[in-house]
Amino acid sequence: NLSDKLDKAFHILKGHGKITEVNVAETLKEVRRALLDADVNFKIAKDFTTKVKEKAIGQDVLTTLQPGQLLVKLVKDELTELMGGEVAGINLSGNPTVILMAGLQGSGKTTFSGKLANYLLTKKNKKPLLVACDIYRPAAIQQLYVVGDSIGVEVYSEPENKNPVEIAQNAIKHAKANGFNVVIVDTAGRLAVDAEMMDEIERVHKAIQPQETLFVVDAMTGQDAVNTAKTFNERLNFDGVILTKLDGDTRGGAAISIKSVVNKPIKFVGTGEKMDAIDVFYPIRMAERILGMGDVVSLVERAQEQFDEEEARKIQKKIAKNEFGFDDFLSQIQQVKKMGNMKDLVGMIPGASKAMKDVEIEDDAFKHIEAIIHSMTPIERSKPALIDVKRKARIAKGSGTKIEQVNQLMKQFDQMSKMMKMMQGPGGKNLMKMMGG
Ligand code: GDP
Ligand code: MG
Repeated sequence: NLSDKLDKAFHILKGHGKITEVNVAETLKEVRRALLDADVNFKIAKDFTTKVKEKAIGQDVLTTLQPGQLLVKLVKDELTELMGGEVAGINLSGNPTVILMAGLQGSGKTTFSGKLANYLLTKKNKKPLLVACDIYRPAAIQQLYVVGDSIGVEVYSEPENKNPVEIAQNAIKHAKANGFNVVIVDTAGRLAVDAEMMDEIERVHKAIQPQETLFVVDAMTGQDAVNTAKTFNERLNFDGVILTKLDGDTRGGAAISIKSVVNKPIKFVGTGEKMDAIDVFYPIRMAERILGMGDVVSLVERAQEQFDEEEARKIQKKIAKNEFGFDDFLSQIQQVKKMGNMKDLVGMIPGASKAMKDVEIEDDAFKHIEAIIHSMTPIERSKPALIDVKRKARIAKGSGTKIEQVNQLMKQFDQMSKMMKMMQGPGGKNLMKMMGG
């Protein structure tokens, strides 16, 4: 699968202390091949690797400490961007909100209608109504009833009526009269795009003017899905994509291609046949899934953000010259905060847990610390020795803390500066890294 292929691609970079322009190019060629194999459209795959390459060169990937990891991160970021970047919400502003499902037969419309109703009922406190507009097979209406029953959501149907436009319109009237605030319209699909189906869904769409028209697509259908998405989008200008059956051994490529071809966000994914197998679509998680290297990537990310070499050198110099001030302390805290739990981090540094025992920096204590430092003047921050009792009182007042808290921070700061100085010798390098560089 794609993850394995990408793994292999990145493997090329591992074991190379330094990489050259040649093996960056080679790796990206492998990445492109992996994307193509995963059914990503050719042009998209090509554009993708070109972009990553440009960025890699821009960031001087060849001279960084861990070029392979930086490249992994670039690929992941670009993949996330390609899938929409941000999480796309669902518009529930209507009264009632009308949601129309569109897509081929078997894509998972009926199942997803139920999942979405269940999600809105249990997670969003809504009162949804399911509407059966698949009038061609009696079993389709029955299926929606089974779904509705299983989640305790009412189903609206008119078994004798052969006009889905009317049924949908009547359902909305019924919803208004009975206090339903979301109407989910399940429709008929064909096995392939055909004129009749497209005309029908377009007529329903025009008549009910949904807030959300959702195109439902089976993630396992690859390139075909892209063409189907294009056709539906041309007729309906839909608002979002639902990617179903992501629980199987899916190739994921459809997700990438659909987003870039129709430029509509993927809003939810279906991950099973059960009613709770629904997830909000997170581009970044999908990128991680595709890359199959979640842990590595997030570690690299943490490292990227935190280990700013230059910053570290600056701090080291300041400590050496006794110029380490509260502004530096604040930026250290911010760095540490970004890395996660303070205690966990300290625990990772050999010997440091003992040194830090008295410092007692709790995660939620950061709030006070930041407030206190923000209440100091620039002079006070750079020359903490100036902070006398009078100044302490003013700082406590300004930050809404007690004078004891200011005292405690001063003490912590003192210990921290001492410890950092101590850690500057051999063996203290790790801590310096943890503390900002
Ligand atoms: P429709 O024709 O578009 O209404 O599709 P259905 O909702 O009837 O789904 C077709 C088949 O796919 C059914 O057997 C569903 O149980 C199955 N299905 C739907 N969504 C998912 C999913 O997310 N994962 C899996 N594994 N199966 C799904
Ligand atoms: Mg159906």
